[in-house]
Amino acid sequence: SLEKGAKTQSAAAPLPRGSTPGIRFEKVVKRFGRNVVLRELDFSVAPGERVTLIGPSGSGKTTILRLLMTLEKLDEGLIWIGDQTLWHMDKGGKRVPANQKHLHEMRKQVGMVFQQFNLFPNMNVRRNLTEGPVRVLGVSKDEADERARKLLDLVGLADKIDAHPSQLSGGQQQRVAIARALAMEPNVLLLDEVTSALDPELVVGVQDLLRDIARESDLTMLCVTHEMHFAKDISDRVLMFDQGQIVEEGPPDQIFGEPAEQRTRDFLQAVL
Ligand code: ADP
Repeated sequence: SLEKGAKTQSAAAPLPRGSTPGIRFEKVVKRFGRNVVLRELDFSVAPGERVTLIGPSGSGKTTILRLLMTLEKLDEGLIWIGDQTLWHMDKGGKRVPANQKHLHEMRKQVGMVFQQFNLFPNMNVRRNLTEGPVRVLGVSKDEADERARKLLDLVGLADKIDAHPSQLSGGQQQRVAIARALAMEPNVLLLDEVTSALDPELVVGVQDLLRDIARESDLTMLCVTHEMHFAKDISDRVLMFDQGQIVEEGPPDQIFGEPAEQRTRDFLQAVL
């Protein structure tokens, strides 16, 4: 189990411990053409906090994660990771793009696990886990291999190190994808509907793994999910979104137990 693994790893534990930056969105506006997806969005996630985004499809949740991954550019406002912004303000107070080197450094702090796993299909599991650390972080091949083995142990797939993604079940592929994200030693972990492409019987295993990682690491986590019991399980705080704005936020017991807003009640009734 995860606990057993963690005990034997001691100093070389694969899960991040130490100071991790939080996240802050400051008056963030994101448009796709005329579609205003995020409207002056303000929110923050404290270092080590686990926050879940819920809300109807199209409310902007995935866009928030993609902005943090620098897969999208914002139109207005600022996004902070720790004490650094993804983009800069010039002297006139206008947002200007960061240079590529800065974005690259910022992106290294953020790991993401996608709905569709997105493993490199032509690489075995070992290379899926070592390619990023060797190429992007400059870790030695031996060190990356060692780390890959520890992480596969952690996710319960030590025996699959030489397998190709196509030989694995969806649940196993998602475990590898989680290990691959952790191999980059991120401070922030983004989870985008990570169990919605899985067969029902594989969902709980992946959710349990993520819950254990949340408990035993100090990663800052931002999670988008339609699985309300998972949201309840994993989060310190839940943000309910609608049309690019936060309708209501609070601890999971409050949001799921006694939501204050009608829009939240309607949404929960539709998904639960
Ligand atoms: P959610 O994750 O809450 O379902 P998204 O962030 O995926 O919402 O989408 C928010 C809105 O942005 C939707 O109206 C969607 O159609 C639009 N959108 C997302 N990505 C793009 C894109 N690449 N091009 C155009 N519109 C997009």
